[in-house]
Amino acid sequence: MSAAWSFAIARLLGVVAVAAVAGFLLGHVQLTILVVLAGYLALVFTRLFRLERWLRRRRTESPPDLPNVWGDIVALIMRIYRRKQFHKRRIVQLFREFRRMTSAMPDGVVVLGPDRDILWFNRNAGRLLRLRRKVDFGQRLDNLIRDPDFVRYVEQGDYSIPIVMRSTSDADVHLSLQMVAYGAQQLLLVRDVTRQVRLEAMRKDFVAHASHELRSPLTVITGYVDTLADDPSVDQLWRGPLQEMRRQTERMRAVVDGLIELSRLESASGEAGQDVVDVSGMLTLIRREALALERRPAEITLRLDTDAKLLGSEPELHSIFANLVSNAVKYTPPEGRVDIRWRLDGEAAVLTVSDTGVGIAPEHIPRLTERFYRVDPSRARATGGSGLGLAIVKHALQRHGATLQVESREGLGSTFTCRFPARRVVARAPTAVNL
Ligand code: ADP
Repeated sequence: MSAAWSFAIARLLGVVAVAAVAGFLLGHVQLTILVVLAGYLALVFTRLFRLERWLRRRRTESPPDLPNVWGDIVALIMRIYRRKQFHKRRIVQLFREFRRMTSAMPDGVVVLGPDRDILWFNRNAGRLLRLRRKVDFGQRLDNLIRDPDFVRYVEQGDYSIPIVMRSTSDADVHLSLQMVAYGAQQLLLVRDVTRQVRLEAMRKDFVAHASHELRSPLTVITGYVDTLADDPSVDQLWRGPLQEMRRQTERMRAVVDGLIELSRLESASGEAGQDVVDVSGMLTLIRREALALERRPAEITLRLDTDAKLLGSEPELHSIFANLVSNAVKYTPPEGRVDIRWRLDGEAAVLTVSDTGVGIAPEHIPRLTERFYRVDPSRARATGGSGLGLAIVKHALQRHGATLQVESREGLGSTFTCRFPARRVVARAPTAVNL
């Protein structure tokens, strides 16, 4: 107990004792004590009243000048109040700095609540997404941004890659949107990527135009080289160089065709078409073409566990399957084998192309679908590969909502697996055919 409280209690007891003595002298002990205690209570009430009034008006009024324990209480309240003011000023200052910082940020930031309702956004988010201060606070984000791609992106829950879409207010502006989850809340990061999208479009246009421009002269050169290489009247000395010219023009044509195909896949927007494609027939034909090759593994088998068809683009699916089979054939020695299998796995349809060829070291596997990426450039050159086959496969699969999985062991062989989602599969009763 503090000294002030001991003093207050001692004083009260003293007052009661004096009242008792005075009451005894006056002949009314109880009445005198009662009157003195009533006076004491009135004094306490007056001080309590002053304290309460000051607490309500403490912003404008200076603290009351109260004695003893009352003075201690006032001093304690003042200390707590000053500390609170200090923290409040610091938080306000921090908040102002945070607002200044987020306003200066080139990116837009929207803070979302658990139901994706807008809690706050910075100036750039307001500008890029045309959000209005106060009016749009509390609104659900998907009610304000109704782009179907964005709605799908928000709902599917994988936010590792941002989505790029056109601004709703200006079709020439491209925005990159990325959700970031933290606790129960989410942030939406918005960035103007118009410049990057334009550069990317220019790059694609350039590659598409350049490859188209190269195709015609190349066809003429190939024609002449073929004629000369097959002409018996041409000097024997020229046979070797002409054969080499033929091989190189073939390679150039493969690269140009690959680039044109990739450009076409890149410029096609959205998912692939919905033609009903007879995969079994297509694979039978591809196998037959592979068997007709001069340099090929001894065995090329096709196992059709289903006659399921696919909904997709016929040329793109042909390109996927032909590229995978052609790679397996190219990278497998004559004594090896290639197995092609078409089957259902649940509602999904799966194509596997396995070979007993050279295989791929694990560090190369993640990079195989990059353009012009070759595990062994000299071998790839010798086999006449363009380095674009798997990039085309990846793009075409993406357009069918399908995935590519590669398993391989160096020196033992590789298995390439394409998995098509149920929505692309037209399945009928299973049949088994081995060719
Ligand atoms: P390329 O025209 O050079 O074959 P691709 O894009 O089709 O280009 O393949 C990229 C690289 O992946 C190839 O250069 C090769 O090193 C490797 N590769 C692809 N398929 C196989 C396979 N079945 N076995 C071994 N390596 C393969």
